[in-house]
Amino acid sequence: MASKQGPKSRKLSSDLQSSISSHSNAKKYSARQNVESSLEVQSSLESSVSVDTERSKENVTVTVRFRPLSQKEIRQGEEIAWYADGETIVRSEYNQTVAYAYDRVFGPTTTTHHVYDVAAQDVVTGAMEGINGTIFAYGVTSSGKTHTMHGDQRSPGIIPLAVKDAFSVIQETPSREFLLRVSYLEIYNEVVNDLLNPVGQNLRIREDLQGTYVEGIKEEVVLSPAHALSLIAAGEGRDISLVF
Ligand code: ADP
Ligand code: MG
Repeated sequence: MASKQGPKSRKLSSDLQSSISSHSNAKKYSARQNVESSLEVQSSLESSVSVDTERSKENVTVTVRFRPLSQKEIRQGEEIAWYADGETIVRSEYNQTVAYAYDRVFGPTTTTHHVYDVAAQDVVTGAMEGINGTIFAYGVTSSGKTHTMHGDQRSPGIIPLAVKDAFSVIQETPSREFLLRVSYLEIYNEVVNDLLNPVGQNLRIREDLQGTYVEGIKEEVVLSPAHALSLIAAGEGRDISLVF
């Protein structure tokens, strides 16, 4: 990762945003714990994947998504400085010899749904099978993290798409019992706050044999995609109707 910082050190007219995804296949959990791990996926989505599949044997994959220039940037005469050269290379417009390779690179016309299908869906289905997964977006302000993870009504983000898929798996697997729980937190200035419980401030991060957890965080059992998304909206103080 550190060796891939090149694009950030230059003026970026078209900011790049990367999704880093991890997938641990070291542990298998019961169906109940399994669903908790998928929620971990959901809650870490706000701020985003890989798999033990034929396509990728890596536990961590890094994908880059370029957003288009905004109208304002176009008016200001900004120019694209980096672009997707094929499916894995990010190349400089100014110096063709400068290029960086990622697991996957998406250009400005790619839909969020396609990004989800390629970079996130395997983590969600893996989580439903007992493999811990995390999907998160990383990038400078205005690079497109919220657009990719939350989306809007016209173009749903990775969070609603993941929630929808998680519930589809449940529906398609009547032979197994699932328990989905959502927690939602912010880490602000290194302080962990519970977004579903105003009293839950400055929570401690702890570790036990099951893994890492946040002590005292509220976990809400969810029974439908709408329910899960409404909790996320509530955690942000948003109107639920904006989510759908
Ligand atoms: P961040 O959350 O990283 O600060 P945003 O998601 O708010 O950035 O994106 C900044 C602006 O760019 C928003 O107006 C958003 O709608 C727009 N935007 C981001 N990504 C895209 C995209 N892939 N296609 C079109 N517009 C985008
Ligand atoms: Mg944002």
